[in-house]
Amino acid sequence: MRPPVKIDIPNEAAAPRRIDLKALSYSELETFAEQLGLPAYRGRQIFRWLYARGAPGFSEMTDLPSTLRETLSLSAGIETIVPELTQEASDHTLKSLFRLSSGNAVEAVLIPDFDQDGNAIRLTVCVSSQVGCAMACSFCATGQMGFLQNLSSGQIVDQVLHANRLARERFGRRVTNIVFMGMGEPLLNYNAVLDAVEKITHKDGLGMAPRRITVSTVGLSRRIKQLADDDTRFNLAISLHAPTEKKRSSIIPLNRTARTDLMSLREAVVYYTGRTKRQVTYEYCMFKDFNDSEEDAERLADVVAWAPSKVNLIMYNPVEGLGFSRTSEEILNRFIRILVRRRVTVTVRRSRGQDIDAACGQLANKPRDTKS
Ligand code: SF4
Repeated sequence: MRPPVKIDIPNEAAAPRRIDLKALSYSELETFAEQLGLPAYRGRQIFRWLYARGAPGFSEMTDLPSTLRETLSLSAGIETIVPELTQEASDHTLKSLFRLSSGNAVEAVLIPDFDQDGNAIRLTVCVSSQVGCAMACSFCATGQMGFLQNLSSGQIVDQVLHANRLARERFGRRVTNIVFMGMGEPLLNYNAVLDAVEKITHKDGLGMAPRRITVSTVGLSRRIKQLADDDTRFNLAISLHAPTEKKRSSIIPLNRTARTDLMSLREAVVYYTGRTKRQVTYEYCMFKDFNDSEEDAERLADVVAWAPSKVNLIMYNPVEGLGFSRTSEEILNRFIRILVRRRVTVTVRRSRGQDIDAACGQLANKPRDTKS
């Protein structure tokens, strides 16, 4: 369970730093209003202005009394991250780089899927939850950066708000799906990620259905169980990438301890699927001559048999200097045939935005040619 909230409102005379309202959750905004001597509904009004209406400042919040807006501007601020750079790939994937007040940068990717007539039928934004990542997976560009900082829930939602603007501008409709598969391990920034999901799904926020959101983890067993206990409604994806302890430990350092190895993941997945009655998706990046043999396919099918689940095979985008390369189509097809024979539900994701380093595992704040 998450601890109750106490908001420390800075005293203007003693501490000039102002509280960032976008870093507060729905209930924290209610508490914030109460601590100012206001009814809780004022906090809810602010929440609506920030997320449903995307107000950039207090002056836009026209149904708040002007005296309150003045009080707010003295005791609080609204930190908004805006893109410093947006690049467009040849397949129309758009990658935006946001500069944070700390000076660090973070990236989000908007991926359009088109029908035969060229209409965007699905617009997925891939958001980051941290700058860099402590998990150090050996195939991942973000993992090579190390961990730099957690994002606040507001900074995560700002990536979605920006993607919505970009999507309307470029494709005439708003984002349809959100995946937490950008920089960072979302479950290591647990509270901010859950608060961001609340802001995205709340009727007073962006009002999106939880089933349109997928949070992807490298497999933190304790946190997976906590997601089930916290009654989360979004989809859960697990970056498996290897079907045996030995192989997984060789590319994912997290797998090297007993508390976070494949066996503990099995226990967590069984707990999660049993409690939520929802299946999980295993993300499986295909690495040539590492995890793409017939034996690997059989072992992967064994993993799938643990609990209700499906597999998403990802065609790897080689990252310079990391020593992995992409499986051929022929080997991929052989792999799929074995999974299908074992009655595994399998899909293939062909990564997008490769020419601007926006594809899976490539996010590392490395800009190429600027398009806008
Ligand atoms: S694959 Fe995910 S968990 Fe692993 S280093 Fe990259 S961002 Fe972190």
